Amino acid sequence: MRQVHPDYNESSGLVVDGSIRIAADDNPVLIGTECSECEYVVFPSRPFCRNCLSDNVSDVELARTGHLETYTVAHTGQDGIEPPYAFGFVNLENVQVYSRFTEWKERSLEVGDQVELVLEKIKTDPETGEPLFGHMFRPMEEEQ
Ligand SMILES: [Zn+2]
Repeated sequence: MRQVHPDYNESSGLVVDGSIRIAADDNPVLIGTECSECEYVVFPSRPFCRNCLSDNVSDVELARTGHLETYTVAHTGQDGIEPPYAFGFVNLENVQVYSRFTEWKERSLEVGDQVELVLEKIKTDPETGEPLFGHMFRPMEEEQ
């Protein structure tokens, strides 16, 4: 079985964000909500549709890759997050997702770049010192 992240152990339950799951192919996947009435998709999941207010909604797996809409780099830390860190919005096929980014220092990150979902350490639990996991996106290799 492929490791999603070297330090991640599914049984540890150290996932901050319940909106990410490990799919059957061992890759992480984000879960949003799709409205059965108007097909509007939101992330994170909600008990009702933000577009038409219907509660006829169900969980839906989101695309794992998308394009960078916008991002910024924070130089002030907060809640166990070490600065600097990058965060912003990613456009998936049918929904816009707020996310932090990884590997943005190693490779330059530009608006419009293709990015992919990864499970990553989000922060350190201030009480236990243990890493907490959640979703991030990283730049994909240039297409030739
Ligand atoms: Zn709706």
